[in-house]
Amino acid sequence: MLNILKTHFGFDQFRPLQEEIIECVMAQRDAFVLMPTGAGKSLCFQLPALKMPGVTLVISPLIALMKDQVDALKADGIPAEFINSTLTRAEIDRIQTAALRGEIKILYAAPERLALPEFQYFLQKIVVSLIAIDESHCISEWGHDFRPDYRNLKVLRTRFPAVPVMALTATATRKVREDIICQLSLEKAKIFTSSFNRPNLSYAVLPKKNSYDHLINLFREHRDEAAIIYCFSRKDTEHLAADLRQEGFKALPYHAGLESEARRTNQEKFIRDEAQIIVATIAFGMGIDKPDVRLVIHYHLPKSIEGYYQETGRAGRDGLPSQCLLFYSPGDASKQKHFIRQIEDEAEQKNAYQKLDQMVKYCELATCRRHYLLAYFGENYPQEKCDGCDICLSPQEYFDATIISQKIMSAIIRTGQRFGMNYIIDVLVGAKHKKIIERDHHNLSVFGIVDDFSKEDLGRIVSQLVSKKLIVKSGDEYPTLQLSPRGNEFLKQREKINLTKFESIAKLSQPGEAVEAAYDKELFEKLRHLRKKIADEKEVPPYVIFSDLTLRQMAFYLPQSEDNFSRISGVGDEKLKQYGEIFTEVIQTYARKNDRPEKDVPVKRSASSHRPNRLGPTYRETQELVREKMSIEKMASLRGLAAGTIASHIEKLVSNGEKLDIDYLRPPVEQLETIKAAFQKSRGTALSPVLEILGEPFSYAELKIARLFIRS
Ligand code: ADP
Ligand code: MG
Repeated sequence: MLNILKTHFGFDQFRPLQEEIIECVMAQRDAFVLMPTGAGKSLCFQLPALKMPGVTLVISPLIALMKDQVDALKADGIPAEFINSTLTRAEIDRIQTAALRGEIKILYAAPERLALPEFQYFLQKIVVSLIAIDESHCISEWGHDFRPDYRNLKVLRTRFPAVPVMALTATATRKVREDIICQLSLEKAKIFTSSFNRPNLSYAVLPKKNSYDHLINLFREHRDEAAIIYCFSRKDTEHLAADLRQEGFKALPYHAGLESEARRTNQEKFIRDEAQIIVATIAFGMGIDKPDVRLVIHYHLPKSIEGYYQETGRAGRDGLPSQCLLFYSPGDASKQKHFIRQIEDEAEQKNAYQKLDQMVKYCELATCRRHYLLAYFGENYPQEKCDGCDICLSPQEYFDATIISQKIMSAIIRTGQRFGMNYIIDVLVGAKHKKIIERDHHNLSVFGIVDDFSKEDLGRIVSQLVSKKLIVKSGDEYPTLQLSPRGNEFLKQREKINLTKFESIAKLSQPGEAVEAAYDKELFEKLRHLRKKIADEKEVPPYVIFSDLTLRQMAFYLPQSEDNFSRISGVGDEKLKQYGEIFTEVIQTYARKNDRPEKDVPVKRSASSHRPNRLGPTYRETQELVREKMSIEKMASLRGLAAGTIASHIEKLVSNGEKLDIDYLRPPVEQLETIKAAFQKSRGTALSPVLEILGEPFSYAELKIARLFIRS
């Protein structure tokens, strides 16, 4: 199987679960695959399709997606076709004839095809070995992408009782999962679920103030990198896209109100790297498999965490570091509430308030965002800090908030625990407005006792007290504040409390600086151009030729012989044959002109992952890069992995007694001493207690590396 993986797809290793899933369907068993976007679900049916005797039938909801996937398979030399309404009668006949002759291994079809008697007749005549139902959540009315045509899929089970069925989705909610299993009678299927964590994505929330300037700066820094901006309304998308064009960026709008032709061309331009930025409503995205989206920006507050996670999930499918930014202002929440108020169904309305509230909580977090997102989907993220969200990445400074917290909480109690945040704040700062006077609250001892914090800051303190569960918010449209039992205890015991400083909140909201990666940027640009030229000639999206990761590796190793080139991840036999020469030529010319050496691309397949005692190829690659004396950050960036993962590789290599010169990674003396002292104080080697003691911006990666030098 590893051979097929390299020769046909150009990859050296399976991603987590891929191998197990493939084995399951090869053993004729049904499979239900729940993995996040970008996990590599397609390969789970594409590879078995090559090993099985007949045809693998793939049901996919979107016509555009089908074409791109088939183009990508063809580029790898795999006989694949699709049948949908965009084809002429003659084209369909040609494909069906080829299928009957056994010349097609993978056949994509839209769900509505299945209802046509003619197509059913055709299916009966070919040998179907596997049925894969991609985006299978479309069958569920509970999901956000319900497609009535997916109900046609039920007949597949009765028509092909002996053929294994594989359903795939990235939808994480339990209700939808159960619905899929029930509708497709997958009760006996083996269920595969991976973590929904997307380690290559970083998350940040920025204040809405100056958001436009921020965008401009961001795009100046990230020229040529694909970005999706989500806006609330159709008009917003058009205005923002026009503004960005004024600034010289290639930005296009996308929403359901555009003519279908305009929608199609705008989407096409984005996929083909002709437009850098697409400014869209949430109508955009489902038909997009573009693997190299580097930025997903929410310009307005999303309605729910589900939607937000789905939309941000479109970033970085190729596994390379990508950013998800959200611009937040509490005013956006009020706007959303305005719409929720108009929902007539009471249960539905309550649900909408709840979802929005969870979204607001996310924006106001003072703790790890990844942790919160995964907890939302019922997953426990084991580490306290993730190294990949604005909160975890920024140095946190604290201040003693004991007195101000006591004042806020007293005001809540004195006014009877019946009022919302703004009212409480008004009382505290002594605003003499009508309602306060009517209720005689201007005579309370807490009236006007705060003069050292602005209203804005007070709001932030309240949010932090809510997220620390001292205060609870209840009610939907106009939530009121009460003290939790913990809060009452806090007041009674006169406990002390530290909260995060606001300056650091503001500062930490800056997106993490892009790591200077180790590959040659100039060569990368040249290779990108070449890729675009070839893609245009072949009328396919550029990523179908080679992924960004593949180009980055080329721009790092500068492979010039066929053998060396073939070892790059993403180069399979067909692509080697098609493009090997053209690319190595460009690389060679560049290398000569700039006097750059060619490096050996590590052979990864020799270290088989089947032998448990041996370290797998991913470790070998790290080992290779350590030999090059590359920094942890650069390795992480080049490989599309978290710094912490790289550090773990190094630990493992060292503990396995591999020969490895890591002295160049030794932390500065002072830093090492500080960390060492913290380890001694924690009396162990676990990392999180040490982080707690240090209370300083050390990352897990740094601690892991430091630990190596402390031990030796
Ligand atoms: P999903 O359907 O789960 O969102 P895809 O199947 O579209 O994900 O795969 C996402 C990306 O990962 C694609 O660019 C694909 O080529 C790449 N990929 C899949 N499997 C592997 C692998 N074993 N090694 C390297 N890249 C892979
Ligand atoms: Mg997919």
